[in-house]
Amino acid sequence: MQVSAVQKGALLYSGKAKSVFETDQADYLILNFRNDTSAFDGKRIEQLENKGTTNNKFNAFMMEKLEQAGIKTHFVKMLDEQESLVKRLSMFPIECVVRNYTAGSICKRLGIEEGMHLSKPLFEFFLKNDALGDPMINDHHILSFGWASVSDIEEMKRLSFAVNGVLVDIFDQAGLLLVDFKLEFGLFKGEIHLGDEFTPDGCRLWDKETRKKLDKDRFRQSLGNVVEAYQEAGKRLGMNF
Ligand code: ADP
Ligand code: UDP
Repeated sequence: MQVSAVQKGALLYSGKAKSVFETDQADYLILNFRNDTSAFDGKRIEQLENKGTTNNKFNAFMMEKLEQAGIKTHFVKMLDEQESLVKRLSMFPIECVVRNYTAGSICKRLGIEEGMHLSKPLFEFFLKNDALGDPMINDHHILSFGWASVSDIEEMKRLSFAVNGVLVDIFDQAGLLLVDFKLEFGLFKGEIHLGDEFTPDGCRLWDKETRKKLDKDRFRQSLGNVVEAYQEAGKRLGMNF
């Protein structure tokens, strides 16, 4: 497939952080990473200067690392500072979360302090539904409501743990703890691919020594220097900002 001269088409969907455009090739979409930053299921939204370009570059770097490790992703290439070309996936309405340390919703749900190392990485499914606050679901909900098949569920879990295995080491070498992250998967010609993004908007990254937060918790908790922290994490991983 020749994707070198793809033409941007109509706006297909405008999400909380990205806009998705059709292209003149049915199998490809363009993701535009905006500066919009949201928290609490879209209840708080602010514009953060340079966040779109930072996340576009961050995502490209991570997707390429995952491809190199043999994980199929939707990522094709960066088109410019703010946009990337991706394969058009039929997305599962599901978020896959992997946790290595406790933080965020699991602390509230189980009354557990932040920062505990989990003896085994933990996997959770959430339904992608902002109006309902992305409720936690399990395999049975997915099967009973027909959101994915048994083999899709197994593959999403396998790939999520595979992503964790690859990325924990990459972040560790950069002096960072990969605390947790969210992935979204979809089907491309019948095969499961990682979609959406891997950026500090959708994961938690802490400095290994000081536990300084370098992710969206800086926005959620009004700690300031949000984009600067994303860029600091990126630079440590070898990106140039
Ligand atoms: P949200 O929908 O959560 O507000 P975004 O603002 O990031 O999130 O919007 C991007 C949307 O594009 C998401 O709904 C995501 O599921 C969807 N998406 C991401 N990658 C692809 C892809 N390759 N093909 C189709 N849809 C995708
Ligand atoms: N996450 C995300 N989008 C969501 C929900 C969670 O990207 O809609 C990410 C979040 O940034 C964190 C991980 O998934 O890295 C686990 O999030 P958690 O369940 O703790 O929810 P939170 O308290 O962050 O909303």
